[in-house]
Amino acid sequence: MPLVLHDNLKREKRVFKPADPQRVTLYACGPTVYNYAHIGNARAAVVFDLLFRVLRAEYGPDHVVYARNITDVDDKIIAAARETGADISEITEKFARIYREDMGALGVMAPNIEPTATGHIKEMIALMARLIEKGAAYAAEGHVLFSVTAYEDYGALSRRSRDDMIAGARVEVAPYKKDPADFVLWKPAKDDEPGWDSPWGRGRPGWHLECSAMIEANLGVTIDIHGGGLDLQFPHHENEIAQSVCANHAPLANYWVHNGFLTMDAEKMSKSLGNVRLVHELLERFPGEVLRLALLSAHYRQPLDWTDRLLEQSRATLDGWYRALLKLADAPDVEASPPEGVIGALRDDMNTPEAFAAMSALVSRANKAESQDDRAQLKAQLRAAGAVLGLLQIDPQAWFQGEDGEADGLSAERIEALLVERREARASKDFARADAIRDELTAAGVVIEDGPQGSTWRRAG
Ligand code: AMP
Ligand code: ZN
Repeated sequence: MPLVLHDNLKREKRVFKPADPQRVTLYACGPTVYNYAHIGNARAAVVFDLLFRVLRAEYGPDHVVYARNITDVDDKIIAAARETGADISEITEKFARIYREDMGALGVMAPNIEPTATGHIKEMIALMARLIEKGAAYAAEGHVLFSVTAYEDYGALSRRSRDDMIAGARVEVAPYKKDPADFVLWKPAKDDEPGWDSPWGRGRPGWHLECSAMIEANLGVTIDIHGGGLDLQFPHHENEIAQSVCANHAPLANYWVHNGFLTMDAEKMSKSLGNVRLVHELLERFPGEVLRLALLSAHYRQPLDWTDRLLEQSRATLDGWYRALLKLADAPDVEASPPEGVIGALRDDMNTPEAFAAMSALVSRANKAESQDDRAQLKAQLRAAGAVLGLLQIDPQAWFQGEDGEADGLSAERIEALLVERREARASKDFARADAIRDELTAAGVVIEDGPQGSTWRRAG
């Protein structure tokens, strides 16, 4: 079965055909680096990491170029610098480093290219000059604006009418705009703000312009796949398309792939709602692979509700997979390709639920295998499938020992599992069991605090 992707511009699943199979190009919009990433942000990073791995398996690791940018100039970064008194570069470097570490812990491979917005100001200025020359942009009062009437298909990606777009983007009605839907490519910088000299005065770029310039500079005029979260479809990606197509008279990307939202209690996880769970904090309580498996447990285009139950199930699933590997530890190491059941599911628009079902079937077979040949084959297949999924990367023995070791008390994983069990016991009014669990935790030196948001724990003294 060929690789098939859901192209959100055409709103259909299409067989993936790269323009050049020797150089398949993928771009995903990366983080704005001024604070910690939450697990909703991580969903995008993990989904496009999976796509990167699938493409590498299909075309060979040397034939895929993946760029994920870093937005290191932005109003929110400037505000964070003002609040903390730190330099802008101090903030952006710190949070870019933390982002790489956190995503690395989720098995996200480093992209081939990690362009920064501040590293591409020259390219942005050149792009604006081209747009002005073609009549698709204009300068006004220190700003450069994109003229949406210049692009006939504006709104095609998000399928919005002009009025929807104006309302949806909460576009600023400003006296210097020719049309209220026009968006900013460049804006003037105040003296105490970061800025760069340009033909239109000292200023800084708009977010949408950054991606168009970085894509062209690093990957080319038309790329194979452009990815990002569904919330970026409008206005961000719509505006990227308008800029790039008007400048180059060629499509920006041949496939548009968007991941669905991660939710909590059916609401999108977002800073403005205050319902975020930081990757950094989750990693103190769970191995990265548990979080990764949880993030990939739903199909990437479906919403995914983040719950304790999901985390526990993900841990139990991985424990089962690692247990199978542990039983095969003495089988000889041989080479194998990822089994068709897993890779076939991933080729089908990254159908991870089906791929995980195939993994579990493989694990059942591994548990029953008797001959040394079968055991060696199944071990190799599990490892190969794990490599494409970005899972099963740890030595099985180390997996069960946990990072901090269980010898001197309960591991964080075990404590979390007991807390979930205790909550379930209470919910089903099995108070004897709930109390027994509390006693067990207390005996192990774990202090539980029950609050309105659920229970938290810490190690005593
Ligand atoms: P932001 O920091 O909001 O610019 O988001 C960075 C990336 O995370 C973008 O690709 C967003 O689409 C994605 N993202 C943010 N919140 C969520 C969420 N709740 N679920 C899935 N993706 C998200
Ligand atoms: Zn972008």
